[in-house]
Amino acid sequence: MSKKSSPAMPSCDEFDPNALSVEQARGKILDSVTPVQHSEALPIREALNRVLAEDISATIDVPSHTNSAMDGYAMRGADIPATGTRQLVIVGTIMAGRPLDVHIESGQCARIMTGGKLPAGADTVIMQEHVQRDETNNRITITGGHKTGQNVRQAGEDLARGERVFRAGTRLTPADLGMLASMGIAEVAVLRRVKVVFFSTGDELCEVGQALQEGQIYDSNRYTLYGMLKRLEVDFVDLGVIADERSAVEDAFHRATRDADVLITTGGVSVGEADFVKDTLEKLGQVGFWKIAMKPGRPLAFGRIGDCQFFGLPGNPVSAMVTFYQFVQPALLRMMGLDDVLPRYLQLRTTTPLTKRAGRLEYQRGIIGTDENGEMVVSSTGAQGSGILRSMGEANCFIELPLETERVKEGELVKVQPFAGMT
Ligand code: AMP
Ligand code: MG
Repeated sequence: MSKKSSPAMPSCDEFDPNALSVEQARGKILDSVTPVQHSEALPIREALNRVLAEDISATIDVPSHTNSAMDGYAMRGADIPATGTRQLVIVGTIMAGRPLDVHIESGQCARIMTGGKLPAGADTVIMQEHVQRDETNNRITITGGHKTGQNVRQAGEDLARGERVFRAGTRLTPADLGMLASMGIAEVAVLRRVKVVFFSTGDELCEVGQALQEGQIYDSNRYTLYGMLKRLEVDFVDLGVIADERSAVEDAFHRATRDADVLITTGGVSVGEADFVKDTLEKLGQVGFWKIAMKPGRPLAFGRIGDCQFFGLPGNPVSAMVTFYQFVQPALLRMMGLDDVLPRYLQLRTTTPLTKRAGRLEYQRGIIGTDENGEMVVSSTGAQGSGILRSMGEANCFIELPLETERVKEGELVKVQPFAGMT
């Protein structure tokens, strides 16, 4: 049965009162996924982008000793003259990593380099550019205008011993790795990677590297999926193209769900597609076929097969990506152990007018740029057909237009969802 001749279902282009809103669908999905349970200990470098399984408190003060933030002279704040100038005798030199066992008395100072341990008695550093040095007498002359305590980094100022530094559920960034290293922590417990399996369905699909036969198209969805999954730090297996054949599909579902946490397929779930895909899904698990009031991107199949979460994305390349970003990515992030999983938005002025039909949320592809005043603005990529993958390639964001909106004038504010890795 072809799509066009399917009489029972209303066209997705019409307003459908039974369709779920994007928020409702995302809410249902997030309600039914849970974070993975097992953790593994990893050297901190390998833990980049992974999610902590434990809270981490500072084991030491960072910095561990009070030190100089500048190259200059360590002295007593009480020696800063209220008026005029004052001379201080240099009693030694302190390099980073080479502390000096002196006690700075009134009228004395020590030459000190950035990171050098502040000597006892001193509480202030005056930058070398702000003193006059008298080489022959080993003295410096300072003026007023300095503040007690300036240019000094206190022990524990960055991280205080015992203070909780990270909560379980934190996804480790480059800065976080540095913080862990600064506390001398070499290994951390992170949640195990979420395991994803994916495949494409469709007899028209040709594998990259093979000659295209008449009526075929190259399978691009498995490559966009690869890219999106790769960025998320999940484990994944690509099962290739599965033919529109009952036994092949059933076999693939069995294989995929054996030990994966998530199965993602593209194609084969639209109205009028070979019914056995739905039969198979219903036979093997609990799967719902949702109409969602959004464009592009409907329909979406979602449910469970055994212990495996299932997402059946539409076959259209742009729809597959949009539904991935709106539904699959938040679910995967939640399973990875994150709390904050929803897409982030900016409010930007559009430099192009935008139009759509009322009745569904639309994700138009946009380009965030800068106008002549240096302000961030957004423009449309142009043609928005759901088969036009180029519109995704040129875009660095989605422009999310609300259900009831029909037109947006140039210069109006719109909601923009930047893609990860926008540049
Ligand atoms: P379907 O959801 O299977 O009805 O597919 C909708 C449209 O997307 C059809 O034009 C398909 O040929 C196309 N399509 C499906 N799967 C893929 C894929 N993996 N790569 C590129 N295009 C696809
Ligand atoms: Mg198909």
